[in-house]
Amino acid sequence: MNYLPYDERYEKMEYRFCGKSGLKLPQISLGLWHNFGSVDVHENARKLILHAFDNGITHFDLANNYGPAFGTAEKTFGRILKEDLAGRRDELVISSKAGYLMWPGPYGNGGSRKYLIASLDQSLKRMGLEYVDIFYHHRPDPETPLEETMMALDQIVRSGKTLYVGISSYSPEETQKAAEVLSNLGTPCRIHQPKYNMLYRDIEKGLFDVLRSKGIGCAVFSPLQQGVLTGKYLNGIPEESRAGRPEGFLKPENITKEMLNKVQALSKIAESRGQTMAQMAVSWVLRRPEVTTAIIGARKVSHIDDALKASKNTKFSQEELKKIDQILED
Ligand code: NDP
Repeated sequence: MNYLPYDERYEKMEYRFCGKSGLKLPQISLGLWHNFGSVDVHENARKLILHAFDNGITHFDLANNYGPAFGTAEKTFGRILKEDLAGRRDELVISSKAGYLMWPGPYGNGGSRKYLIASLDQSLKRMGLEYVDIFYHHRPDPETPLEETMMALDQIVRSGKTLYVGISSYSPEETQKAAEVLSNLGTPCRIHQPKYNMLYRDIEKGLFDVLRSKGIGCAVFSPLQQGVLTGKYLNGIPEESRAGRPEGFLKPENITKEMLNKVQALSKIAESRGQTMAQMAVSWVLRRPEVTTAIIGARKVSHIDDALKASKNTKFSQEELKKIDQILED
């Protein structure tokens, strides 16, 4: 059936500037790491993307290797773009990345110019696009000189294959250096994509300072720690969950008793705020002014709705923050 987007979609979402730039991103973005591959049901993937778009989610985050199989999330997204979102390209911010293993041999992994340029060309073909909006180096590569990787990103911007470039999972020091190299080449480092959630707060120790000082936006990934922060694992591993499915990246052994005790205690604070645990976890990352957007994952439409509700309630009292810190520090 022909899809017609909801007219009021932009009134439902707040958009934040991506660092010191004119690019606005929705507070909630949808990531296609899980649930959009060739192992998943296309109709569900379609439902999720169109529901997101209907609610003002304009930013979709991909990478060369999302699937499984590698590359198939980009294919799924390309099909939906063609069949349902044709004519909407200018309403979308589409990102992709390269940096992890994508194909065999010395040129399908890492941070070389050879890998990055070839990989983006493949991504564009899979999605049926002429350009992406944001292209990231997916992770630091200690074996490639940073200058080479940044020169490749700069060239990709100049060749028109991406509008903005970013980096993911770089340390504060690496970020500072990468931003300086890019800036000397005349291309800003527009965005950083780090992991950030209540159970993983490393970026508070230095990265936020660098992002603020360099005017770099911040798209945080796994705000729910892959679902652990929803409370769904408090009574075991449900079959229908990331940790319960064989292709899920989250393994039962990654979910420790200590994490679950924290989630249990945090749930009480969520309740007192009139939120579910999942909602509070997303609200909590958005409380930081440095965070441009929270990139969530979803298997069901209700997961997107929870995150949308969370984005309406991002203020925490000092007392709530103190209680949360105490639980997380224990
Ligand atoms: P989340 O931490 O948001 O976890 C999402 C998963 O949690 C869902 O797929 C679902 O899994 C479960 N979930 C979400 N909402 C609810 C809810 N309300 N109630 C119950 N369960 C819920 O994010 P992801 O780990 O999926 O990462 C998000 C995106 O970030 C990725 O798609 C990708 O774009 C990006 N990313 C980037 C990385 C990088 O290196 N740059 C690394 C990792 C992610 P289920 O129901 O199946 O249990």
